[in-house]
Amino acid sequence: MSNKRNIETICIQSGWQPKKGEPRVLPIYQSTTFKYETSEQMGRLFDLEDSGYFYTRLQNPTNDAVAAKITELEGGVAGMLTSSGQAANFYAVFNICEAGDHIVSAAHIYGGTFNLFGVTMKKLGIDVTFVDPDAPAEEIAKAFKPNTKALFAETISNPSLVVLDIEKFADIAHSHGVPLIVDNTFATPVNCRPFEWGADIVTHSTTKYMDGHAMSVGGCIVDSGNFDWNKYADKFKGLTTPDDSYHGIVYTEKFGKLAYITKATAQLMRDLGSIQSPQNAFLLNIGLETLALRMKKHCENAQKVAEYLASNDKVAWVNYCGLKDNKYHELAKKYMPDGSCGVISFGLKGGREESIKFMDNLELAAIVTHVADARTSVLHPASHTHRQMTDEQLLEAGVQPDLIRFSVGIENADDIIADIEQALNK
Ligand SMILES: *Cc1c(COP(=O)(O)O)cnc(C)c1O
Repeated sequence: MSNKRNIETICIQSGWQPKKGEPRVLPIYQSTTFKYETSEQMGRLFDLEDSGYFYTRLQNPTNDAVAAKITELEGGVAGMLTSSGQAANFYAVFNICEAGDHIVSAAHIYGGTFNLFGVTMKKLGIDVTFVDPDAPAEEIAKAFKPNTKALFAETISNPSLVVLDIEKFADIAHSHGVPLIVDNTFATPVNCRPFEWGADIVTHSTTKYMDGHAMSVGGCIVDSGNFDWNKYADKFKGLTTPDDSYHGIVYTEKFGKLAYITKATAQLMRDLGSIQSPQNAFLLNIGLETLALRMKKHCENAQKVAEYLASNDKVAWVNYCGLKDNKYHELAKKYMPDGSCGVISFGLKGGREESIKFMDNLELAAIVTHVADARTSVLHPASHTHRQMTDEQLLEAGVQPDLIRFSVGIENADDIIADIEQALNK
């Protein structure tokens, strides 16, 4: 087809392309290994001279079909699935960083990523500076150092719901000669495609809306192919100088725009092995088929719930960028004109104690360590996901101690609101 297809069509039709007599539905290639006829054929695969499957830790046809669908949804050139969103963010950064390097990250990010960058990657010798994503560009620019290799942020931050000014961040990254990596988990490519605004690499926790049914943990990295690694060859030596573990291949020379994902697959996946199981990729693909439909309903329902909460006098504050007086309303209209996501945060008058009591009284909305699911779910980050953080760190990450993260599902909005109302009145 010559025309670029629309997002709903890509969700259904992209990825698996059966040929004559092949299964219509994406098969689960439940096989660790793949057969060849000669030793020579297999040898060429190990030298990256031919492309083909040989061992599922490196590549698997089920996973590749699903990665191709997400890549097309994002408008990128190549993608890979990972075992989790954590693995996706780790690989996305580690693919271009090593001991002695530094990254700049928005401070308002998922708690797991905050720990990954602030604790675990520091132990590997990769330093991070956290910045306020709402700060002026000049302020954020001060965090950059000669050894800075990437700028990282989330499209809509979990759970603080900051909407990223993607163009501002892309400009800052590019004026310092580094790529912008955007975690697009909450918006999904249905509502926002960060590459259209200058982001270079996109990551996902596919565990959330993409899977959509709380069935399987997974992640994905997509490359736009737009960042010119050769222009900053001294900075990104892992991509622009010979890889001794592949007989001196230079990824940018041999693979051009596919260099970044090829290195992540051939080197990081080979050595670290955080693959998604083909079974989970199959389930993820079913989720992706209805992603566009579900996102529309999540956003419609969240808008109704947010408006209800905003008009209720037991509620101290509501944060949802769909509300007209929200700090991020204009940014959301620019980057996500069709809707943002189904996640709302709010606090109750009476603070932390009242928030916890309210949650315990909910009947339809379940208290789960999960978000962005078909079922309405609720969490108190200060007591759950962000429990390790001090109150000071919580505020730095944009998480008020009384913040309730309310993930609006695709049930009937009236039933969700009725549940909130009965819990507030108890
Ligand atoms: C959940 C989440 C992650 C981590 O993903 P897992 O699949 O749980 O490992 C990363 N980023 C964001 C924005 C998330 O919501």
